[in-house]
Amino acid sequence: MNYIVFDLEFNMFFQFKEGDFANPDLKNEIIQIGAVKLNNRLEKIGEFNSLIKPVIYKRMNPFVKKKTNIDISRVAQRRSFVEVIKSFNSWLGNDSVLCSWGQDDILGLRENCSFFGIDAIPLDKFINIQKVYMTYRNLPKQPGLESAVEDLEIEKNLPFHDALSDASYTSDVFRKVYDFSETAIINWEKVQAESEKKIAELKTIISQANIECPECKRFVQKSSAVTKAKKYFAFGYCAECNILIRHVSRIVNKDGEYCIVSNNSIYEKDEK
Ligand SMILES: [Zn+2]
Repeated sequence: MNYIVFDLEFNMFFQFKEGDFANPDLKNEIIQIGAVKLNNRLEKIGEFNSLIKPVIYKRMNPFVKKKTNIDISRVAQRRSFVEVIKSFNSWLGNDSVLCSWGQDDILGLRENCSFFGIDAIPLDKFINIQKVYMTYRNLPKQPGLESAVEDLEIEKNLPFHDALSDASYTSDVFRKVYDFSETAIINWEKVQAESEKKIAELKTIISQANIECPECKRFVQKSSAVTKAKKYFAFGYCAECNILIRHVSRIVNKDGEYCIVSNNSIYEKDEK
């Protein structure tokens, strides 16, 4: 079994002029895939690095350009995502575990694959190295890759925010913190499908949340309400306390479980 430690760089929407809109089906477009292949003793046996020509966000978001140093001229003549992902897939080989720092890259990989109609990449075996590191150090909050590299005294000889160097640093972290426990390997595809199902269920009931007056704890009627993605906003008025209440409900992940968290606060005191 090989471990594929990968990292991605994305370009995303930026409003250059009025009338520019993001594509709701592809929020983050992959412009670089970097990966390091490790054998079952975590020795490096190969690497993959490819820049990708963006087709949805064809101008470089200025923040991305600043962070990654990727100028449009560096990617405009490159191969398309579909071509690169095919090479990447054959480079993976059979019986590989995909590994990355955090969940953003595997989410982005899945989003891009589904947008471009590719279903070849195996997402059933995945290790979140950030999580392994957090367990190793007993950390409550998600740390950045660079802080983990510093903490583990890994030599910083490459620039960060380049997909291949980040993959390389992540593999160095992995080598220091992984105890070969099989429980770190999750069926990400299955977990993700279950999360999406749970989120969809919660979305159907989020607007049923009650507005409770934060002062007297009575339930009050909703005056206006709007649902946005994983959030629900409403207003209510407590005639007893003479206050306007702002209600916000959010779908959040608490200790691995999705649930609705509601907050009611005084919006503005009516000084009648
Ligand atoms: Zn009240």
